Amino acid sequence: MQEFKVTSSERSQLIDITADVRRAVSASGISEGRCLVFVPHTTAAVTINEGADPAVRHDIEYELDKLIPWAGGYAHAEGNSAAHIKTTLVGSSETIPVSAGRLVLGTWQAVYFCEFDGPRSRRVYVKVTAD
Ligand code: ZN
Repeated sequence: MQEFKVTSSERSQLIDITADVRRAVSASGISEGRCLVFVPHTTAAVTINEGADPAVRHDIEYELDKLIPWAGGYAHAEGNSAAHIKTTLVGSSETIPVSAGRLVLGTWQAVYFCEFDGPRSRRVYVKVTAD
């Protein structure tokens, strides 16, 4: 299993980690299989969406903030329930096919680390498994 760090600079931020995941796939030496991307945090997640237009990333953050406001009369005493809820909705992992030694993504797809309680230093695990 491989690991890399992500440093967020805002409370809520989608960070393109596609290049890091591609590097991990190359380093694995595996040509056919699947790539698991796992975020080991309770207030950060991972998703796949459009990487070409930064407005898409902005709109996702904006709508998630509207759906799950930071101050929502939550019970959790740490005060970051919105981040926990967003993490559960978005999810902690993605599985992406690997073929011919490369990550198989659609033309417009990018892998995003989703920070929901930053700024923080975070970790991402990547496990590539052969068929
Ligand atoms: Zn908490």
